[in-house]
Amino acid sequence: MIVILILLIQIKLIFTKDPAYIRDYFHLISTTEKPLPLRKYYGMHHSSIDFYPGTMNVILSVPHDGDLRSNLPSRPKGACRKLNSSNRKCYYQNPCLSPQFQMDIKHCKISRGRDVNTRLLALALRYEFKALFHFTPYVIINRLERIKVDMNRFIDQGTFYRKDNMHAWMRYHFYLRHARELIVKNKNNYGGKGLLLDLHSHDHHERWVELGYLLPSRQLSRKGYNLKHSSFASYLTSLFEPIDLVSGNKSLGYFITKYNYSATPSPIFPSPPEQSYYEWGYIIEEYGRYGNFSAIMIESPARNMMNLTKLYKYAKSLAFALHEYLIAIEVFEVLATSENLEQSQITKQCNLSRQISAQRNLFLLLFFSVMSFI
Ligand SMILES: [Zn+2]
Repeated sequence: MIVILILLIQIKLIFTKDPAYIRDYFHLISTTEKPLPLRKYYGMHHSSIDFYPGTMNVILSVPHDGDLRSNLPSRPKGACRKLNSSNRKCYYQNPCLSPQFQMDIKHCKISRGRDVNTRLLALALRYEFKALFHFTPYVIINRLERIKVDMNRFIDQGTFYRKDNMHAWMRYHFYLRHARELIVKNKNNYGGKGLLLDLHSHDHHERWVELGYLLPSRQLSRKGYNLKHSSFASYLTSLFEPIDLVSGNKSLGYFITKYNYSATPSPIFPSPPEQSYYEWGYIIEEYGRYGNFSAIMIESPARNMMNLTKLYKYAKSLAFALHEYLIAIEVFEVLATSENLEQSQITKQCNLSRQISAQRNLFLLLFFSVMSFI
C-alpha cells in the first residue's frame, strides 16, 4: 500500500514538474540581458528598479512583483479614520496622528499582496516581442516589496509619507515618465504615439484577463462607451469607433480571446462582473491619455501564471495577441535599432537626484500643510 502511495506521488511529481526546455527558457529570458546599472538605496543589495531600455514605443510596467528585502518602514494593514464620524475618508498616517483617529482595516484596508510572476511575464513578453516585431519594449520593474511601497497608488497611500518610501515611489515614476518622454520625443516616432501596459495578476474566480481603461464597469455593462476620461489617447477614438476599441474587433480583449484565453471587455464578455473587476489604477491614470500616448492595465488570472508551464503558454499567447493588436490599432512605431541605441540617450536626461529631491521637498511641504489643518 505504502509502495503504491509513493509511486502515485512520484507520478504526480513527474507530471506537475515543468519540463526542462521551459525551465531553460525562463533562465534564458532572466539572464540574457542585464538591466541598466542604477544606484542602490534602502540597504538593498540590488537596485530597487530594473530598467530595460526599448527600441519600440511600448512600455511594460511591473509594480507589484517585488521581493527584495530593504530597510524601508512597512506600510500598515489599514489607514486611519475619524472615530464616530460619517466621514468615510481614509487618512494615510502611521501611527494615526490624533486620538480622534483610529486604524480602520475594514473601510481603509491597505493591499500589500504580491502579484504572481508578472516580472517573468514582462521579461517573456520582451523576448517574444523581439521575435515578432524585431524590436523590444521598455521594461520597468519595481523590485521592492509591496508592503513597503505601492507604485500603483497615489503617493499618500503608496508610502504613508515616509521619507525614503516617497523617494522610492518617485524613482519608479521617474523612470516610467522618462521612458515615456524618450518615446514621445523620439525623432523617428512621428506624432509621438505610444502605449504603456501595466502588468498585474488577480485571483477572481471567473479567471478572465481583465483589461482596465479607466472605464467604470457600469458603463461597460451599458455599452454606452464614453472614452473622454479613458486611458486611450484621443486620436485613437478619432480613428476607431469606441465600441470597436473597447469590446469589438479592435479591442485587446478580442485578440486575447483569439488566442484561447477569456478576457473582459471583449466581444464574448463585454461587461465584467461588477464586484470583481479592476477598472482603475494610478499608473494608467497617470500615464494614459497623454498626447498620443495611451495606457492599459492588464490584470491576468494568477492561475495562468502559477507555474512556469502555464506562464510559458500564457506569455506566448499574450505576445501574439499584443502583436496583432498593436498593428491593428496602428500604434507600433520603431524608435531605434539595437545597434544605434546609445546608452547616453537613456541616461543623459535623467539628472535624477536633483529632480527627486525637489519633488520630495514639495510633497513634504504639502503634507505638513495639510496636517496642520487637521
Ligand atoms: Zn497588482
